[in-house]
Amino acid sequence: MVHFVGAGPGAEDLITLRGKELIENADVIIYAGSLVNPGLLKYAKKDCEIHDSARLDLNEVIEIIVKAEAMNKTTVRLHTGDPSIYGAIREQMDILYEKNIGYDVTPGVSSFCGAAAALNMEYTLPGISQSVIITRMEGRTPVPERESVEELAKHGSTMVFFLSAGDASGLQNRLLSAGLDAETPCALVYKATWDDEEKYVCRLSELGETAEKYGISKTALIIVGETVKQTGYEKSRLYAPDFSTGFRMGKNLNE
Ligand code: SAH
Repeated sequence: MVHFVGAGPGAEDLITLRGKELIENADVIIYAGSLVNPGLLKYAKKDCEIHDSARLDLNEVIEIIVKAEAMNKTTVRLHTGDPSIYGAIREQMDILYEKNIGYDVTPGVSSFCGAAAALNMEYTLPGISQSVIITRMEGRTPVPERESVEELAKHGSTMVFFLSAGDASGLQNRLLSAGLDAETPCALVYKATWDDEEKYVCRLSELGETAEKYGISKTALIIVGETVKQTGYEKSRLYAPDFSTGFRMGKNLNE
């Protein structure tokens, strides 16, 4: 059995209880060493076999799993954040399926949630944006044309860019040429929830220079949109005193 486990964004105590228990019981752990906090490995059994997938290709990862399965061992495949976001888990799951190896997934706290926490931010502010666009600029992996930065920027939604901090200037230029205002607030969050977390808020016109000034080019998220300012929103209807829900009778404010 293979358990894909979301390790969370960085801080050791942001893995789920289920994820931690799976680590404790694993015979083999394959972890994404480039981004997963190695501190999580202290939960592993003493004789657990541990591999850093940063040094492995897909075939090598599968080889380790197949070997473990042959010995009836349990493998944890530890991915950073939540495995469903840029986790490359589908390609692994498809091969496991072909090989008749069972697997399941345990979610994790994605770094985009860690970044919001670092900023004390709500992505979905009534009256400003009710959507979060999670995306990336193309790198070695292409992005479909209909999801280009320019296309997505048209929505005016809160945007969270993964895997794009290496070219913050390029992102700035593309967002500006897509028509976003130069004043649009942006945030750069480096290593959200790690001890060496850094966060900067700036205008869109300063995004590239901010990244450069603080030397941020990887392990960072770029958040763009009016919600970054966290002001000028409307209060939620759910908690409005005059609003009735299944749990609470609204008060008549005219009485
Ligand atoms: N599955 C992961 C994302 C993997 S892609 C998740 O849910 O978070 C790797 C990218 O995620 C990095 O290039 C960076 O953009 C982002 N990332 C991962 N951990 C991060 C962190 N702690 N702080 C900021 N960005 C992070």
